[in-house]
Amino acid sequence: MDKCSFCGRERKDTNLLIAGVSGHICDSCIEQAHGILEEEFKKKGGFNVDEITLLKPTEIKNFLDLYIIGQDEAKKYLSVAVYNHYKRLQQRKTKDDIEIEKSNIILVGETGTGKTLLARTIARMLHVPFTIVDATVLTEAGYVGEDIESILTRLLQAADYNVEAAEKGIVFIDEIDKIARKGDNPSITRDVSGEGVQQGLLKLLEGSIVNVPPQGGRKHPEQKMIPVDTKNILFVCGGAFDGIERKIGQRLNTKVVGYTASKAKDKVDQKNLLQYVAPQDLKSFGLIPEIIGRLPVLTYLNPLDRDILRRILQEPKNSIIKQYEKLFGIDDITLTFTDDVLDYIVDKAVEFKLGARGLRSICETIMMDMMFEAPSNKEKELVITVEYAKAKIDKESLARLKAS
Ligand code: ADP
Repeated sequence: MDKCSFCGRERKDTNLLIAGVSGHICDSCIEQAHGILEEEFKKKGGFNVDEITLLKPTEIKNFLDLYIIGQDEAKKYLSVAVYNHYKRLQQRKTKDDIEIEKSNIILVGETGTGKTLLARTIARMLHVPFTIVDATVLTEAGYVGEDIESILTRLLQAADYNVEAAEKGIVFIDEIDKIARKGDNPSITRDVSGEGVQQGLLKLLEGSIVNVPPQGGRKHPEQKMIPVDTKNILFVCGGAFDGIERKIGQRLNTKVVGYTASKAKDKVDQKNLLQYVAPQDLKSFGLIPEIIGRLPVLTYLNPLDRDILRRILQEPKNSIIKQYEKLFGIDDITLTFTDDVLDYIVDKAVEFKLGARGLRSICETIMMDMMFEAPSNKEKELVITVEYAKAKIDKESLARLKAS
């Protein structure tokens, strides 16, 4: 007679008895085992940071290539920094006392060029807690806004309050340029959202033990603080640094004087000055030198041109087009986009300076009626043509897209 090999119940006493190679398991034992698994997983906060299988830099880049088009320079820098960072975490104490320092990263590039996507993809690859914070909401303690510690509250939450996992996580600080000092001169008046915040941030970047309010905010003064060591947290900062090209240009111009001047100048690609970004440009922009010193890996992202936008539409592993195909596929509908409709979508994104983010909103506008009607229709083969797209993107909706 078939019995559960775990609790001994007979088949008739169970709702379900599943046969294995040399035994059986009943539904209630499955449930119990599942509970145990969940408990165990929870204890680790869903993360097992000790067992990060570290890919080599080229492998990390290959992974990034699946999701992000272009931006080879940034990918390379990021891959090396992440590799070194986690290698450093796994290093054993050796006699030579050489301690590898951590290498936080700063990415400079226009908005929508993939800075967040890069950080997010890295975190996904490593399975470590990851959070994105917006530097614009940060203020010095005592002012309206969020305390610097709230960054770590978010990370703790992302780690399910597993402190050990959080301490090896990745924090992406977006819009770091917004906490720049206004101007290069230290001001005598207090700069609530600028230098004070940078000083606060410095503490986190340097690596220190910070008391973190687990609920965040200042609304729960009674909460017990959790000490979090930031020594091994990898910080990736991103910012558009609007206008930094001018500072880069100035620096390049003043540097090249005399005989080699014209020659060197010729080599400078004036259209994309960001590629020459150097720490002193960040300083001219208003970041304090201490912060810059704590962000030793500085790299840039290229503006997205037509070709790249076209590839973004189609090539990434979860590209917008692939997502629509899948969405319709669930209803057994084969969806195809003609090549010229893809060109048209890119044209509109370029025309209205919507960047990569705009691709999605343009596609949504084109696809809305189709998504509404198709599941109830019999048609199983749908082709999106440029005529169809043009009809959907009328003047009014474009105005809306432009405004968004
Ligand atoms: P940023 O952080 O630089 O402002 P994001 O990373 O948030 O920009 O990019 C916005 C969106 O644009 C992403 O979610 C992604 O869909 C798309 N995107 C931007 N750049 C790329 C790229 N190089 N490859 C693939 N998708 C991209």
